[in-house]
Amino acid sequence: MINVNDIFEILDRQTLGIKTEKVPLHKALGRILGNTVYSAIDSPPFDKSAMDGWAIMKNEIATSLTTVDTVAAGDVSTINISSGKCAAIMTGAKIPEGTGRVIRVEYTHREGDSVIIDRDDPLENIIRQGENLKKGDPVLTPRILNAGDIGILASLGMDRIEVVIAPSIGIITTGSELKEPGETLNDGEIYNSNGHQLIAQSEIWDCSAHYYGIVEDDRERLKSTVEKALEENDIVLLSGGVSMGEFDYVPQILEEAEVEKIFHKAAIKPGRPLWFGKNKSTYVFGLPGNPVATYIIFEVFVKHLILGLCGLKYEPAFLRGILGQVITRKTWDRTEFLPVKWENNEVIPVKYHGSSHLNAMSDAKGLVIIEKGIRFLEKGETVHVRLL
Ligand code: AMP
Ligand code: MG
Repeated sequence: MINVNDIFEILDRQTLGIKTEKVPLHKALGRILGNTVYSAIDSPPFDKSAMDGWAIMKNEIATSLTTVDTVAAGDVSTINISSGKCAAIMTGAKIPEGTGRVIRVEYTHREGDSVIIDRDDPLENIIRQGENLKKGDPVLTPRILNAGDIGILASLGMDRIEVVIAPSIGIITTGSELKEPGETLNDGEIYNSNGHQLIAQSEIWDCSAHYYGIVEDDRERLKSTVEKALEENDIVLLSGGVSMGEFDYVPQILEEAEVEKIFHKAAIKPGRPLWFGKNKSTYVFGLPGNPVATYIIFEVFVKHLILGLCGLKYEPAFLRGILGQVITRKTWDRTEFLPVKWENNEVIPVKYHGSSHLNAMSDAKGLVIIEKGIRFLEKGETVHVRLL
């Protein structure tokens, strides 16, 4: 059984030529930025007022001033501010020549044509050209683009963004007992949840998911489907058929399809039968059929590989919490990914009685990772919850 750290090390070594494409700004959300973006302009592009107020000279000492202009955002004033003069200026407007500071309107009042300064403004209230960013400055390093990043790119005038073309993912579900949702179950049959869960999980970072449906436990059908999926995808996910059952053909079929086995069986719980390998330019995960295992392995390992192939390191978010109950393990030869939730500000495991208890996962907010060799965790202990 391979250890978790060794799995990550193997995944980190894998590569796929990174290809990029340019997409319109409004299509870039959630996409992977492959290269650092540099600013093509100064931000702001001119000295502008941070307040609605009065533009005055830097060393103005008069407290009663004559107004000479009104500058709205977008206007360019032709007036030069001199001693005893001021211009009404709006937030975001370019400051007129001669302006050294802006007195906010709340600190003044009008008396006829004059502006009386009631209080001195301790702040300059001017945002200087290039104060936020200078032309040529790095702005965004490679990352998954969020809404804030889209705003930043827009502020720099960028309307087309170069993003990574994420891997295509082929999904095959194996099992003669499976029926698709919407079909009628016969005795002995269950619904195929893994296939649809994996399609949904694959819809991140604009990966393209290709679904090959259910393949019954039949060697020939499985082989031809696997060969087709290997041709058509960067990553192939198989669900089921990797354990010790008489009809668990997946490892053998993958070998026949010239997929080189990198590891089979991992010291993880759930998901011990996990299989991973590579053929030419396609990576293959043989995921155990148990739905909770499938879900967790995708979250922990498949996502890690996908981002790695795109040139990024997957950095899941962790939250620290206090364990609300003791956790005793029957076996401790594997690293456990324990689904947990918060209750009364404490972390407690979701009631989950085995890898097929998929509906329990809907309560899970994260995973507590219990290292191999750890036999129990105490109530009140600090745990780090990997958020889902
Ligand atoms: P296997 O890994 O094929 O031995 O399957 C392990 C368990 O997971 C069995 O109880 C299967 O019925 C169940 N299972 C396998 N594939 C799926 C699937 N696609 N959806 C839901 N359950 C599945
Ligand atoms: Mg099976």
